[in-house]
Amino acid sequence: MPSIGCECATCRSADPRDNRLRPSVLVQSGSTSVLVDAGPDLRQQALRHRLACVDAIVFTHGHADHILGMDDVRRFNAALKGPMPCYGNRDTLDDVRKMFSYVFDPAAPKGGGLPQLDLRPIDGPFSVGDLVIQPVPLWHGGKPILGFRFGPFAYLTDCSALDDRAWPLLEDLDVLVLDALRERPHPTHLSLSEAIGVAERVGAQRTFFTHMCHDLPHEATNARLPKGMALAYDGLVLE
Ligand SMILES: [Zn+2]
Ligand SMILES: [Zn+2]
Ligand SMILES: [Zn+2]
Repeated sequence: MPSIGCECATCRSADPRDNRLRPSVLVQSGSTSVLVDAGPDLRQQALRHRLACVDAIVFTHGHADHILGMDDVRRFNAALKGPMPCYGNRDTLDDVRKMFSYVFDPAAPKGGGLPQLDLRPIDGPFSVGDLVIQPVPLWHGGKPILGFRFGPFAYLTDCSALDDRAWPLLEDLDVLVLDALRERPHPTHLSLSEAIGVAERVGAQRTFFTHMCHDLPHEATNARLPKGMALAYDGLVLE
């Protein structure tokens, strides 16, 4: 947000919460930090939040708005002095290999110019430093993708439905972040009313919606959401 070339009221809004980069979240515990997704705005987001490095990147899925920042992982490689552990399901890691074929081409000239990515397929809970990470199976239209639970916090973006196996993994949450694209139904994303229904069933203490398009102006939409629910915005920090 805003959309290129759009003159709608939300895209012209002066509210900074209506001006958003591609969806991503940084999760920190103790000295461990994990980035969820590496979209095209990774560089700008890292600079804005003075993020010098992370210990790992976990991927929800392989769509462009969630992986196209991978080339900028070079700076994190320099800080880590090694390859970046990258976790995702097999489809997602295949998408990364295809999209960044030059990175995985043994004939590509070596040097400082390529990100070093250590792709690690996941099919169950795993740990990065202090963080235990529980993958949560979701449906993004017909595509099986992952959300992630980190203790009392869960991040479920880009979903049109939760898999049956997801519900028991989402009990007793303090904070849920959940996809809500717009009011009208969409084949691969939850609409706002669908997302409210999912949020009520999960029953987290607080729910923040993410991945909204310009159909949902921040302030006006927030004002009519049920108690404990709000739209997320860039720079939102949760303790
Ligand atoms: Zn617009
Ligand atoms: Zn997607
Ligand atoms: Zn997306």
